[in-house]
Amino acid sequence: MLRPFNNITEMKYISTRNKSKKVSFREAVLKGIPDDQGLYFPENIPVVSKGIFASGTKADLHETSFEIARRFTGTEIPAVKLSEMIAEALNFDIPLIETEPGIYTLELFHGPTLAFKDVGARFLAQCMAYFSKDSSPLTILVATSGDTGSAVANGFLGVEGINVVVLYPSGKVSQLQEKQFTTLGKNITALEINGSFDDCQHMVKEAFADKELTKRRKLTSANSINIARLIPQSFYYFHTWHQLPEKQLPVVISVPSGNYGNLTAGLLAKEMGLPVSKFIAASNVNRPVPDYLETGVFSPRPSIGTIANAMDVGNPSNFERILTIYQHSHKKITEKIEAMSFTDDQIRSIIHEAYLKTGYLPDPHGATAYGALKIIQQNKKITGIFLETAHPAKFHSVIQQATGIKTEIPEKLKRFDKGKKQSIPMKNKYQELKGFLLA
Ligand SMILES: *Cc1c(COP(=O)(O)O)cnc(C)c1O
Repeated sequence: MLRPFNNITEMKYISTRNKSKKVSFREAVLKGIPDDQGLYFPENIPVVSKGIFASGTKADLHETSFEIARRFTGTEIPAVKLSEMIAEALNFDIPLIETEPGIYTLELFHGPTLAFKDVGARFLAQCMAYFSKDSSPLTILVATSGDTGSAVANGFLGVEGINVVVLYPSGKVSQLQEKQFTTLGKNITALEINGSFDDCQHMVKEAFADKELTKRRKLTSANSINIARLIPQSFYYFHTWHQLPEKQLPVVISVPSGNYGNLTAGLLAKEMGLPVSKFIAASNVNRPVPDYLETGVFSPRPSIGTIANAMDVGNPSNFERILTIYQHSHKKITEKIEAMSFTDDQIRSIIHEAYLKTGYLPDPHGATAYGALKIIQQNKKITGIFLETAHPAKFHSVIQQATGIKTEIPEKLKRFDKGKKQSIPMKNKYQELKGFLLA
């Protein structure tokens, strides 16, 4: 049963770099990035009523998500339609599981590609389909080094009026990843580029900048900074709260962070009223944000390769949104966020210890978040929640190195592996991509 809504008003979006130019949610979703190259952000953060946190509130992901989504989409999507879109996007569980006394994990990896990016990509797909339903077909162009391509391709699979074209570097993507976007068929096409990931990204950028092409084809990106990927990530923080059996001690949520979208969504939930006492930004040795918290200076730098490679980001784009939430105040930010970063060796030993002591096997990303909670619990009585952003089997060689255990590949991933790879080989030349898109 959906509760009726009072006071749902219009919601406008601004750029983090210009608060005076306001756009609709629709425009923010379809455009992706404002002209000033900032990031879209809600003009006001909606506040939810205290009732939503009352004990005994049902832990229903769909209902919670709907309640939150309505506040961000305002009057632009009818309630019944929005409810359907959420049901379609979040058609998997997000369970909270106790791993040991005082520590819980929120498993975000039960979607089709077994990583948390499914949540954002699937909601974005629903929004794009809704907002472009009465116009000519949209083509989503993505360059991928592995994970983004699979989350986007699977998120948009079978979505009407949208074609997805994934560019990936031939031979530089693991077979398991490649299968996740080359075996789908339907509205998904994979272009296997004879070149590097940078070449792929270059070709995509050139396509967006090509006026002649964009006049004839409606192109858009499913970039990770699209506001419709960020918003749904706030839903599961509320869902976590509803599932949490003990709420007496201060609750600390630890988030494995790379581009900082997941953490930004958590902060958004906190500003909406979620009674979390603190967030931990857990990372690998890519430390621009931990260093900012320590020094007050944000200095982006080239990324460093690690075993938690989905967090190998040297210039996290969502940091700009965090600055916007807290009016660029270093003091306010350090009150809400604490940071901890871990080397590859430390990550491997955290995985091993977690497994030995609790029987729970975290993936290399979740392990950083778990490790941070263990350190905090040495001095403080807290209830800790760490987000598990990927299924450990996606990183089976790291897990085997760390623990000696061979993780079983889940049925969902095996299914991709059985599919037949279909890709179109292409030179790393923009003219070839253009020819393909216009054909
Ligand atoms: C993308 C990703 C992250 C990092 O999330 P951000 O929102 O970019 O901080 C962490 N873990 C996994 C498995 C990911 O795929």
